[in-house]
Amino acid sequence: MEDNINTSIIDYSLFDKYSQDYFLSNLILPLYEDEKYLKLAICKESNLNSIEQKFSRKLKFKEIFLNEMKFLLSNIDLKKELFKLLSKTNENINSVNQTKVFVEKLIFYSITNRASDIHIESSNKRILFRFRIDGFLKTFFVLDSTYSKQISSYIKLIANLDITQNRLPQDSRFKLNLNAKEYDFRVSILPIIEGESIVIRVLDSNKKQKSLDTLGFSKHIVVSLYDALKLNQGLILVAGPTGSGKTTTIYSLLKDLNSDKKKIITVEDPVEYKMHNIQQIAVDNKIGLTFSSVLKNILRQDPDVLLIGEIREEESLNIALQASLTGHLVISTIHSNSALETLSRLIDLNADEFLLATSLKYILSQRLVLSYCKSCEGKGCKECNFTGYFDRLSLGEIIKVDEHISSMILKKESLNEIKKYLLLNDYQDIFNDGLSKIKNKLTSKEEVYKVINNE
Ligand SMILES: [Zn+2]
Repeated sequence: MEDNINTSIIDYSLFDKYSQDYFLSNLILPLYEDEKYLKLAICKESNLNSIEQKFSRKLKFKEIFLNEMKFLLSNIDLKKELFKLLSKTNENINSVNQTKVFVEKLIFYSITNRASDIHIESSNKRILFRFRIDGFLKTFFVLDSTYSKQISSYIKLIANLDITQNRLPQDSRFKLNLNAKEYDFRVSILPIIEGESIVIRVLDSNKKQKSLDTLGFSKHIVVSLYDALKLNQGLILVAGPTGSGKTTTIYSLLKDLNSDKKKIITVEDPVEYKMHNIQQIAVDNKIGLTFSSVLKNILRQDPDVLLIGEIREEESLNIALQASLTGHLVISTIHSNSALETLSRLIDLNADEFLLATSLKYILSQRLVLSYCKSCEGKGCKECNFTGYFDRLSLGEIIKVDEHISSMILKKESLNEIKKYLLLNDYQDIFNDGLSKIKNKLTSKEEVYKVINNE
């Protein structure tokens, strides 16, 4: 059994040529036909009664899963419309305009489906349109490769790229006005052996500015984070590997702190999301505007709150610690596997124990997991594109550096000793946080074990 349709072309005109109602009500998807046969996708639940008589021609079948079938049969009117737009262009003089409508409809559709990235992959046989939603890549649309050139040329045109170039990588940004709202996109085009791979990243400025209580953290973590934001000085660290949601969390912290009574400065590499009322600095190594040159000058700007995109080396760590010791609230991220491990990572970066013990206030470590769709509770429905999951939630563990831990850091006590103390004081580690989310039917075991595998 094949669980996806990537190797097939779907000729959406077959829905009208035969009967759309028949296909939808019997869970059958027409793929394509030629002089020899008509190829159909079916699943275990398809009703195949008298199918031979229905088509009175030779049939070939491909078996897929039920949820994939339901997904491919969803939004069929829009898919037919997109398909028609391109088919017409062959005879139509105004084909640039048709392609424009196609690309804009496709992008708008991906945005309404909450896609973060749109992948358009062409080979010599077909062109695949896949969207990444909640980290999942899903095929939305398959066409034959006749249309790849005009789509690629149109995207290069709006992104101000060289239309004649298809042998070297290109990247750019562009804006589109869709249904009276402006959207920003970043596009990357890479030549592959049989065609091109185009990836459009949707830069939705509203998306990164969720408030703290909507990130799906357990209540005790949200409470601790709000406590952390009441501090006037100190260092708050958000830890985790790449893709664990650290950036979203620090933006949410800033969103909560943002007020006209505070001077907030950020140093980022790069600035992906602009926020009102906040002085954001984009590091630019080419012109010498490095992390360290900005950080050296930043305190003269008299900030209340400082956000340092990431602590990567000794110098940025020292500046973060110094600043948090001298009346500033500093927020930053660090690449590490757990809240406790962050402590040893800081010591590896030669952090001064005294500075650390005095400045460090909170360490949050986090991971993202898919959360069950609330409309179907994991079974699969239209809302969740038949995946059973909708949006993501955060698993976390948070260490509040109290006086006792602070003195343990100063005395260079081992992580094991600190862990013992934490466990005596109701510390809930991230694995247990995950278990409680499973117990409350918010996510699946698979999701939790996927992100926490070493505990
Ligand atoms: Zn659902």
